[in-house]
Amino acid sequence: MKNVLAVFVVLIFVLGAFGTSGPAEAVRGSRAAESGLFLEKVSGLHKDFIKGVDVSSIIALEESGVAFYNESGKKQDIFKTLKEAGVNYVRVRIWNDPYDANGNGYGGGNNDLKNAIQIGKRATANGMKLLADFHYSDFWADPAKQKAPKAWANLSFEDKKTALYRYTKQSLEAMKAAGINVGMVQVGNETNGGLAGETDWAKMSQLFNAGSQAVREADSNILVALHFTNPETSGRYAWIAETLHRHHVDYDVFASSYYPFWHGTLKNLTSVLTSVADTYGKKVMVAETSYTYTAEDGDGHENTAPKNGQTLNYPVTVQGQANAVRDVIQAVSDVGEAGIGVFYWEPAWIPVGPAHQLEKNKALWETYGSGWATSYAAEYDPEDAGKWFGGSAVDNQALFDFKGRPLPSLNVFKYVDTGTPFKN
Ligand code: CA
Repeated sequence: MKNVLAVFVVLIFVLGAFGTSGPAEAVRGSRAAESGLFLEKVSGLHKDFIKGVDVSSIIALEESGVAFYNESGKKQDIFKTLKEAGVNYVRVRIWNDPYDANGNGYGGGNNDLKNAIQIGKRATANGMKLLADFHYSDFWADPAKQKAPKAWANLSFEDKKTALYRYTKQSLEAMKAAGINVGMVQVGNETNGGLAGETDWAKMSQLFNAGSQAVREADSNILVALHFTNPETSGRYAWIAETLHRHHVDYDVFASSYYPFWHGTLKNLTSVLTSVADTYGKKVMVAETSYTYTAEDGDGHENTAPKNGQTLNYPVTVQGQANAVRDVIQAVSDVGEAGIGVFYWEPAWIPVGPAHQLEKNKALWETYGSGWATSYAAEYDPEDAGKWFGGSAVDNQALFDFKGRPLPSLNVFKYVDTGTPFKN
C-alpha cells in the first residue's frame, strides 16, 4: 500500500512537471532560460536561404529621433544588429515620387530612390544583399491600389512601358554606382490585379517584361521577382502563374505575402508555392510576413492586429511571434530547393514616441514621414491615406520593443539553423 501510494505521488509529480505536452515541454523550459526563447531548428534549410527584413521606414524613424540598441543595451546601427541576428538580406520599397509639389513627403518612410540608396549602402556595408521593391507608384501599391506615378498618369501605354523600363534601369544603375549589392529586384508589389494603373493581364505582362528587361540589362546576376498575395484564395496562384506563362513573362522568383492572421494555413502556402515551382520551374519565397508579440499599441495609431476575426494561431507573445516566423521559414524550406527565402516586414517600425504623446508623434510623422501616411498623401490617395493618415500600424509586430531594444525573437533568423542553445 505504501509503495502504491509512492508510485501515485511520483505520477502526480511527473504529470505536474510535464503537463499534458510531455517531456518536450520540460526541455523547452530549460532552453528558454538560456536564450529567452525555445525554437527548433528548421529541417532541410539550405545554407544560402534568404533571411530577410524590410526596414524601409528606418531613415524616417531615425530622422524622427528614434534610436536602436544592441542586446547589451548600447546604441548601435540597426543594420549591424540585424546582421548579428542572422539577417542576410534587406528589402526596400521604392516609390517614384512620394512628395507633393511643395516637397512635403507622403510618409511611409518617404521611400524614393534616394532613400533606398541610403538603406542599400548600409545593408551592403554590413554584408547583407538588397532586394529593391519597385512599386511603380508614388505611394503604397497593394491589391487595392496600383496607381501609376503622377509623372506617368497621362502617358500612352507604349510610353508608360518605356518609362517603366527606363526608371528601373536608371535606378539600378544608380544603386550599382553607389556600390550596393543588389541581389534581387521586385517588378511591382502585390500585383494581384494591377500594375502602374493597368489592370489587363496582357498589358501588365508587357510592363512586367519591361521591368525584367531593365534588370537583365543592368546586371544579369540579379534575380527578377514578381510579388502576389492572398495564397489562401483557392486557385489564385495557379491562375496567375499560368497567365504569366501564357504571356511569356520573364521572371525568376514567384513571391508571396504571408500574414498568418489573414492568409490561410502554412500547409496551403507550401502547397501552392510548390505547385508554381514544380509546374513552371520558378523559385518561390515569402516577400512579407510578420506576427504580433503584444496586443498593446505603442504610438497612439491603431494597429492592424490583433483584431476580432483574425486567425491568431500563436500566442501574442515574443515566443509566439518567434514560433510564427520559424514556421513560415519551415514552410518555405519545405518546398525544397526552389524555396529560397523569407522576408519579415518592417521589424523596426516602432513608435516615434509613446502613445500618450500623440500630438507630438503626429508632428513627427508629418515632418519626417515616419508614420504610414501623412496628410500630404491625400492629393494622391484621398480615400485611404487622406482619411486615415497617421503612425505605425505595426509597432506591436516589430522585432524591437517600443524603445528600440531588440526582442529575443529577432534572433529567430540565427536560431532556425541550429535551434536555440541548451542551458547547461
Ligand atoms: Ca501603433
